[in-house]
Amino acid sequence: MQNTTVQHFDVAIVGTGFSGLGMGVALKKAKKNNFVILEKANDVGGTWRDNHYPGCACDVPSHLYSFSFEPNPNWSRMFAPQPEIKAYLQHVAHKHGLIPHTRFNQEVREVRYDESIKRWKITTKSGATYIARVVVSGMGGLSTPSYPALKGIENFKGKAFHSQDWDHNYPLEGKNIAVIGTGASAIQFVPQIVPKAAHVDLYQRTPPWIVPKPDRAMTAAEKKIFKLIPQTQEALRNAIYTQLEVRALGFVFSPRVLKVGELMARRHIRKQISNKELRKKVTPDFSFGCKRVLISNDYYPALDQPHVDVVTQGIREVREHSIVDSNGVERPVDTIIYGTGFKAQDPIPKGAIFGRNGVDLVDFWKEGPEAYLGAAITGFPNLFMLMGPNTGLGHNSMVYMIESQIAYVMDCLKQMDKNNWQVVDVKPDTYAEFNRDTQSKLGGAVWSTGCQSWYVNANGKNTTLWPGFTFDYRRKTAQFDAKNYQVER
Ligand code: NAP
Repeated sequence: MQNTTVQHFDVAIVGTGFSGLGMGVALKKAKKNNFVILEKANDVGGTWRDNHYPGCACDVPSHLYSFSFEPNPNWSRMFAPQPEIKAYLQHVAHKHGLIPHTRFNQEVREVRYDESIKRWKITTKSGATYIARVVVSGMGGLSTPSYPALKGIENFKGKAFHSQDWDHNYPLEGKNIAVIGTGASAIQFVPQIVPKAAHVDLYQRTPPWIVPKPDRAMTAAEKKIFKLIPQTQEALRNAIYTQLEVRALGFVFSPRVLKVGELMARRHIRKQISNKELRKKVTPDFSFGCKRVLISNDYYPALDQPHVDVVTQGIREVREHSIVDSNGVERPVDTIIYGTGFKAQDPIPKGAIFGRNGVDLVDFWKEGPEAYLGAAITGFPNLFMLMGPNTGLGHNSMVYMIESQIAYVMDCLKQMDKNNWQVVDVKPDTYAEFNRDTQSKLGGAVWSTGCQSWYVNANGKNTTLWPGFTFDYRRKTAQFDAKNYQVER
């Protein structure tokens, strides 16, 4: 049955991942309770609810990859597994009273600015309508799975699924499994499936650079100390932050420094793989850091086993029960697992967000996504993106960036209320200059050294990463800079 209600709120947040929940907590703390959170699923957690493949864990230490206002002394490991991160987000939602604000099973279909009432109109798949003065998108950039266009895939008679849609009821024991992709997700699940499978063919297009993962279990004593003296956990958090932040020097300002990382990664290959042919196959031929640097202690040993083949020839065709590579070699397959990542370059589909004069955001972004401070877009007033264009990181915790963005939006709301502004819209010149400057800084970064990655779109524009230190971003977003916005009372 269609839901035809219309509900009015001051702020509408989309999504319940780190971004949406963090924004909700900030509004609660500021006693701005007139807000709604729209969630497409029936639970909170965003990417940490949706990605539950075996081995899924964060690749930034958990003591940092968590909210500054909600330390968790009980992380079981330095890099907590997905169920713990999901439980952490559920805990945050419950503890801070966000569940009553959340409308579950509300997949946003359209977000449209209505000039006549200076409000956003949000319609969901269920037919409900929400009217809000301010919209905060916490939809994330990596949520729509990307599938390779494989010739003949429609004829395949076996089981096929994407890492994000893992079917835990499907037994992998004794199966001939083809894994496509060798990115951040695949390197986590491949070591988990290899012991179960009869055979694994790993279709690798580009080998990633991988360094050792400094993971370990947290001891009972450490957890106790963190609980009794929270400053100790804060000190650890700060130490991790500083250690990771130093890497921006190499990634952004002086890619040659990254040679040290490359040597470490080459040593990792030599130490973990005995087979010379395999070592060669998994050694990248692009600059260290150009694509996301991965961390793992169990990926290479998983590949160095007799029932695992790394296939580098590419796929010519999929048949009913096999895959044929570009050399014409046919391999039997029962199961295909796509570790082929997400549509990072088009995070917002066409027909979803319409700003002033009915302009579709995707049409406005002719050259690819961009935003002022990664958050605001000219002609889309009172709309803020969290984890928006060019605020992703290759070197530190996204939660730090998200908290910076939330502080910016909160200061905007404060100033809007204080000055009785109904509308704030970033000035076109500010928007253009910011994005010119961002692209110019990215020109010298390691991500522009010629590899193909989801950081950079088909036009060669890096639409995803922040070109600098995260503390610089925090400084820039510490206060809402009203002078750069056109305001309407
Ligand atoms: P990804 O890093 O984009 O890797 C996708 C893999 O699939 C790459 O090896 C890619 O090869 C390959 N591929 C894509 N299309 C292909 C095609 N048509 N034919 C053959 N191979 C193809 O995706 P992901 O592993 O899902 O990770 C995505 C992002 O999610 C990560 O970069 C990271 O930001 C995040 N993530 C984070 C964690 C964490 O621990 N926090 C864990 C998982 C994921 P090419 O390299 O040649 O393109």
